[in-house]
Amino acid sequence: MNFDLTPEQEQLRDAVRALGKRYGHRYFVAKAKAGEHTTELWQEAGQLGYLGVNIPTEYGGGGGGITDLAIVCEELAAAGCPLLLLVVSPAIAATVINRHGTEEQRKRHLPGLADGSQKIVFAITEPDAGSNFHRLATVARRDGEDWVLSGRKCYISGVDEAGHVLVVARTEDSSTGKLKPALFIVPTDVAGLTRSKLDMEIVSPENQFLLFLDDVRLPADALVGESLDAGLPALFSGLNPERITVAAMGAGTGRYAIERAAEYTASRKVWGERSIGSHQGVSHPLAHAAVQVELARLMIQKAATLYDADRDLEAAVSANMAKYAAGEAAALAVDTAVQALGGAGMTTEYGVATLLGAVRAGRIAPVSREMILNFVAQHVLGQDKSY
Ligand SMILES: Cc1cc2nc3c(=O)[nH]c(=O)nc-3n(C[C@H](O)[C@H](O)[C@H](O)COP(=O)(O)OP(=O)(O)OC[C@H]3O[C@@H](n4cnc5c(N)ncnc54)[C@H](O)[C@@H]3O)c2cc1C
Repeated sequence: MNFDLTPEQEQLRDAVRALGKRYGHRYFVAKAKAGEHTTELWQEAGQLGYLGVNIPTEYGGGGGGITDLAIVCEELAAAGCPLLLLVVSPAIAATVINRHGTEEQRKRHLPGLADGSQKIVFAITEPDAGSNFHRLATVARRDGEDWVLSGRKCYISGVDEAGHVLVVARTEDSSTGKLKPALFIVPTDVAGLTRSKLDMEIVSPENQFLLFLDDVRLPADALVGESLDAGLPALFSGLNPERITVAAMGAGTGRYAIERAAEYTASRKVWGERSIGSHQGVSHPLAHAAVQVELARLMIQKAATLYDADRDLEAAVSANMAKYAAGEAAALAVDTAVQALGGAGMTTEYGVATLLGAVRAGRIAPVSREMILNFVAQHVLGQDKSY
């Protein structure tokens, strides 16, 4: 397996890095603290084609794969701009619509996702279901040609910035009692859909919401795909891109934190002429974190390469492992960087403690470390399920 980036991918990486650096972490934090969005960065990234790298060219995208989108996620995060909506809109929503939507849905939604003028967010999590998606209680029932959706969703990112939300619901007439999920493209301004912002301890310009669907009436063509049978494969098709891109965001955040810390410890002197970085009690934890981030990057490249080669089942194992490894590595890197900077580590100015909430959340969402360990225990180690 060859993990080398193509010359085009290397150019993409350098160009995205340059864009990210032009905005940087100060911009990201200022937007978050002002309660604003990173609209300028998103629009510019869209105009430059970076948001649509994985969308086919006939729908206005770059025609690349998840490797390309992972590069975009990692490099923006490495510049201090970890944009969670990259994981939701171009990674999950665009993949689901491209792979399982109707031709009409592809034509209607993909060009706007590709140029960044539209965002589609994703709603699966529910208050009483959480990690157990088999307990989803949001119901979709047929009323003539229409669909009517009722239920609640929680922690849904970016609803205030998006034109549509991809809602996962269960169809009511599943006689077996087993979940038959269906996905719906729901306009965020439709009658019956309301939201309430959650207060989160994360410094981020992107917000999470409770969503209430109260008899939301949708036309027949809001259902993703030609029939209800598209639901389960559509849902699963978003998982690998989600895990790979969120892992890339974590790896980029880890790189960013380690870089900030290394710059600081190489120049900070409090014991004569030697830098604090010359003390191994300071440099070894940073070096250890750098090793963990690099190992995670390797697994991300493997997962993305397998996914882009249509080896979905193998990609699932690697994507889960990459997400786990990157989530842990990012949390370790940011915490280690804060410690290495001492008091400066806790200031807004040095821009590392501002990431503590985000990397902590990265061990919980979009899939928790425990659920990944369950996946590996069952699918790699052949263990029985306890739940
Ligand atoms: C910042 C952020 C953004 C988010 N954005 C979105 C979004 O855009 N769309 C969306 O749909 N959701 C979103 N989520 C929700 C996220 O996907 C869920 O929080 C996550 O899947 C965990 O579900 P839960 O919070 O209900 O935890 P629970 O399922 O209640 O789990 C609580 C704890 O128990 C552990 N646990 C549960 N079951 C098991 C088990 N069988 N074995 C071992 N441990 C177990 C979990 O790992 C976790 O540590 C977001 C969450 C956050 C924090």
